[in-house]
Amino acid sequence: MNIILFGPPGAGKGTQAKYLVDILKGFQISTGDMLREEIKKNSDIGKKIINYMNDGKFVNDEIVNKIIENVINDKKKKGKLIFDGYPRSINQAKNLDFLLKNSNQKIDFIFFLNVSKDTIIKRIEKRKILEKRSDDDLSTILKRYDTYMDTTRPVLDYYNKNSGFYEIDGALKIEEITAKIGTILNV
Ligand code: AMP
Repeated sequence: MNIILFGPPGAGKGTQAKYLVDILKGFQISTGDMLREEIKKNSDIGKKIINYMNDGKFVNDEIVNKIIENVINDKKKKGKLIFDGYPRSINQAKNLDFLLKNSNQKIDFIFFLNVSKDTIIKRIEKRKILEKRSDDDLSTILKRYDTYMDTTRPVLDYYNKNSGFYEIDGALKIEEITAKIGTILNV
């Protein structure tokens, strides 16, 4: 079962992805985490992307799509993909479709965690203290939110007619969201 967790930054995608990894024995595909890892390693990719990430800007599609291609071609992850933070644009959604089709896979469920801008700002300010992410300060949060509204939210139109598409109120408590997802997946 392949799943996309969709929603603005701070919607709780990462938290729910960890739960799904646990119960489905799946693999969390967080492009954000993988990119942060490249920066930590100070790799060539890391050096190229650090300024974009700190500014809250998208990393180049070529880099992100390559990371996703490697994941999809990894046989042990086949049919157990939990996407968190990808796709983030129509182009990325089309690329994902193309790669999945080529490996005889599809997306089975899409959970849209819908949260208001005010809730996001409060949550990310809390996360900044806990995780010390350099892209979690207020001006960067606002920039990331605008990018989400302009570029990522239109991806919903690409998916919302899909039979596995579900919108969930992302302002609910973590356990309530988890329970809703669990009921839909019947796990
Ligand atoms: P996240 O951890 O998902 O909030 O992502 C943190 C940052 O990583 C984003 O603000 C972007 O700079 C970069 N990033 C993560 N996923 C993508 C993606 N699918 N496309 C482009 N940039 C991304």
